Amino acid sequence: MAERSSEIMAENTVILRLDNVSKSFAKVEHDEVTHALNEVNLSMKSGEFISLVGPSGCGKSTILRLVAGLIPPTTGYLTVNGAQITGPSPERGMMFQKPTLFPWLTVEKNISFSLKLKGNEEKVERMLRIIGLESFRNDYPGQLSGGMAQRVSLVRSLINEPDILLLDEPLGALDAFTRMNMQDEILKVWQEKKQLAIMVTHDVDEAIYMGTRVIVMDAHPGRVVSDIKIDQAYPRERSSQTFVACRNEILNRLHFGGKNRGQQ
Ligand code: ADP
Repeated sequence: MAERSSEIMAENTVILRLDNVSKSFAKVEHDEVTHALNEVNLSMKSGEFISLVGPSGCGKSTILRLVAGLIPPTTGYLTVNGAQITGPSPERGMMFQKPTLFPWLTVEKNISFSLKLKGNEEKVERMLRIIGLESFRNDYPGQLSGGMAQRVSLVRSLINEPDILLLDEPLGALDAFTRMNMQDEILKVWQEKKQLAIMVTHDVDEAIYMGTRVIVMDAHPGRVVSDIKIDQAYPRERSSQTFVACRNEILNRLHFGGKNRGQQ
């Protein structure tokens, strides 16, 4: 049985590669450019949950937009299983910080609207069940709490079963408790299919709690400074020694460590 599941995994595995990827933007008022990303090399694959952390302006969202195919790199290549990314695709689903829902459609219609293949309504049912919003199916986005609206958004980005799930600070606008619940919700749906997930976050604890790998970036120019594997089983214990050690290591890489923090 274990052999069989690894066969299935091998068939569906996607490998995303960024080879020498740089991205520059022209500044509107000056005759200058912003080096949003400089020579980034990364390889990621199905089953990984990648957390991208780093100060504002280090190019985290730029990486997501490049992978989504919304913008092209200035130099270098992005490929999925060897094929170059040249534009958006349903194989790469994106979830943003603000729920992107149609206010005039019910929860159920908001979800089914995104279905690539119409008539696949049992999928909508399943998703409503997974996120526990079956009894809110006929409500409109304006009637939902922030957390509920984000759950609907999450389902919309997952409904076409993308190979790559892109999460751009999906929980940044939520209060602390809703945020922690949503971290578990996202992990639950990711653990179902174990697609490749890439999440931008400003929250180091969230990065460690959710990620199988934490990629630490720095700005000016935007670049990768560390790539840390988080080898801990889920659900993770935020106060465990290994968790705290990991937090200290990442804070040090981000220059927020303090001299004695690692010895506490
Ligand atoms: P982060 O997500 O880490 O905060 P971003 O990827 O949004 O960083 O941006 C990286 C840098 O690129 C920033 O300096 C930002 O101002 C600049 N930038 C991003 N998008 C654009 C754009 N469309 N036009 C001009 N500059 C941009």
